[in-house]
Amino acid sequence: MKRLFVIFLIVITLLITWQAGGFSLLTLENLKSQQAALIAWRDLHPVGASVAFFVFYVLVTALSIPGAVVMTLAGGALFGLLWGGILISFASTLGATLAMLASRYLISDWVRRKFGASIAPIDAGVEKDGSFYLFTLRLIPIFPFFMINLLMGLTRMPAKTFWWVSQLGMLAGTLVFVNAGTQLAKIDSLSGILSFEIIGAFALLGVFPLIARKIVETLKARKVYKGWNKPKRFDTNLIVIGAGSGGLVSAYIAAAVKAKVTLIEKHQMGGDCLNTGCVPSKALIRSARQAYEMRQAGQFGIQSVEPDVDFPAVMARIKNVIQQIEPHDSVERYTNLGVDVIQGTANIVSPWEVSVTQDNGEQQTLSAKSVIIATGARPRIPDIPGLDQVDYLTSDSLWELNELPKRFVVLGGGPIGCELSQAFARLGSEVSIVQRPAHLMPREDQEAQALVEQQFTEEGIALYLSGTAKEVIVRDGQAYLLVEQAGEVIELPFDKLLLALGREANTSGFGLEKLGIESRKNGTLDCNGFMQTRFPNVYVCGDVTGPFQFTHVAAHQAWFAAVNALFSGVKRFKADYRVIPWVTFTDPEVARVGVSESEARSQGLDYEVTRYGIDDLDRAIADGDNHGFVKIITLAGKDKILGVTIVGKHSAELLAEFVLAMKYGIGLNKILGTIHTYPTFSEANKYAAGEWKRAHVSPKVMLWLARFHTWRRS
Ligand SMILES: Cc1cc2nc3c(=O)[nH]c(=O)nc-3n(C[C@H](O)[C@H](O)[C@H](O)COP(=O)(O)OP(=O)(O)OC[C@H]3O[C@@H](n4cnc5c(N)ncnc54)[C@H](O)[C@@H]3O)c2cc1C
Repeated sequence: MKRLFVIFLIVITLLITWQAGGFSLLTLENLKSQQAALIAWRDLHPVGASVAFFVFYVLVTALSIPGAVVMTLAGGALFGLLWGGILISFASTLGATLAMLASRYLISDWVRRKFGASIAPIDAGVEKDGSFYLFTLRLIPIFPFFMINLLMGLTRMPAKTFWWVSQLGMLAGTLVFVNAGTQLAKIDSLSGILSFEIIGAFALLGVFPLIARKIVETLKARKVYKGWNKPKRFDTNLIVIGAGSGGLVSAYIAAAVKAKVTLIEKHQMGGDCLNTGCVPSKALIRSARQAYEMRQAGQFGIQSVEPDVDFPAVMARIKNVIQQIEPHDSVERYTNLGVDVIQGTANIVSPWEVSVTQDNGEQQTLSAKSVIIATGARPRIPDIPGLDQVDYLTSDSLWELNELPKRFVVLGGGPIGCELSQAFARLGSEVSIVQRPAHLMPREDQEAQALVEQQFTEEGIALYLSGTAKEVIVRDGQAYLLVEQAGEVIELPFDKLLLALGREANTSGFGLEKLGIESRKNGTLDCNGFMQTRFPNVYVCGDVTGPFQFTHVAAHQAWFAAVNALFSGVKRFKADYRVIPWVTFTDPEVARVGVSESEARSQGLDYEVTRYGIDDLDRAIADGDNHGFVKIITLAGKDKILGVTIVGKHSAELLAEFVLAMKYGIGLNKILGTIHTYPTFSEANKYAAGEWKRAHVSPKVMLWLARFHTWRRS
């Protein structure tokens, strides 16, 4: 309401000014014809004339009324170069800032709601380089200033920054026009004031900030490297530390483009994903599903049985699965690809040198033009009193278990905690999850959380939501986790306790401290969009830097780190995080890309939600898997996809279609127009798009169609 009132006021002021002929007053001819009268007025009221001129100038610029140029000439004619210049410099900056703030107040929210997702990168750019860009735009008068004011209002640039950059950037142009104003009688046209040479000089000044930035970057880099001796020649183009998902892909890319690359791994090739993460957890989930399905067999006309779980055999199968996949990440494969693989512990001794202590004790120091740090992360160990009294498990040590724990307490209900809890419950453990937030998988859609919690409860998993682990005690040989929930302390007895409280980046113990490479508040290594640390030749990728700790994100970042490292100075690419998918492999699976409904709400986006229930899908009904949903967040009134959550069987596979659609800007209309094989789960995507279409059919068009067909029958 307030906003409407302000718009109303602005429109009325503009109308009155127009009606009173205010706009036509601000012409060169008018100014020249009134020059003598204006000078007489100034001589009569020197202070009043300055104040009135200042206020009028502010109004003209704040309301974006055309005529600022003529006003500037008038300022020169009336007050001379110095005083006129001072008055106009401040009045124009104040007016521009007011125009910018008005645009921010009146339309920025609306624009953000409409284009929220596309504006995020602009915000990031403005935060980083906004002053440079604004300065350039102010110096080179190729865009009307009122347009710059209004557009900057849509960004998050602080008003203070906008003020000082504008004041500085407009100064040169202001002085040229004020100076011209002092010669008003000789000016015949406005276009004559800015000669080709002057515009050229401004353009040079305009690109100056960009050149200055390059110089600043070079100086900064020099400062960072000060005290370090750069080798004259390098042993290799690239050293990669860590052979997990990020390191392997980095080395692969380097070898593929014929660079000399050395990959150093201190533990197991394949890192977490192959040895203690994705692969073993998915193999465990598969065995657990088998057990679950045997219990559920009755639904399909086959007698249900309580499975006899041979836990050591389950663990042996997991090891076997790892062994089958191992060759993909092996020393042999990478050596054949042309990578020098060294098995040993890396220690960075300078931005270009890494010493390696091999498993046999041998040590060597290698130099490289660039280094990629891909050292991954490890399970977070909380500071809980008494924890050291028990032999707790983490996702690292879990795989050494050879006996199924009877009472299994899992601390943490995020993706890893949930996947492992359900697997152990299905294999026969009595599982309890203690989770501080009010729901499992706090990042996910609320409806998805509810479905998973319902399924877990039905499977007998005890949920201690909003519960805080306070202490571990051992009484009469029995270990207990003390959990505070709703003001009460509950004693949870356990045989094994699994800590699944997130993962901490591996940043210490290999020389980063000495180099002063900084970590963020959450412990991950800081880098810019090009994956560079404070040393431009030292790059990062994967879990060690985040923010998404997934194998496919590590691989995605690895491409940017490797390409930027190998082609620095020629071309560099900014890592693109716009479409990041992920899946939690519980049953039901929860698959996600883009924003969730609650994120869309909290970001103030102008969005719509379309939901299709998988309980209605033919194939799901035939398979007895008719649970879950496809939920799509679209831009209001448009078929542009902002985010998708799918819950249910095969949701991880269904998600791929939406990932592709989002990446390449394919909307729901096109998904609806694509043939999906019958009967498949993938039809859920098409039906969800159909739901969206149905909701956007115009009732008027339907009415006319009905009339058309009535006419055809008559
Ligand atoms: C239980 C579990 C399940 C998961 N499931 C999935 C999933 O389903 N999907 C998914 O996308 N992600 C999953 N993840 C996450 C995934 O495993 C990680 O995101 C991925 O492994 C990160 O790869 P990375 O290369 O960054 O680090 P890592 O794989 O951890 O590799 C880092 C490597 O660096 C080595 N290293 C460290 N320091 C040195 C040094 N000084 N010298 C030499 N070598 C060093 C380490 O030994 C390690 O091998 C799961 C994780 C866990 C724990």
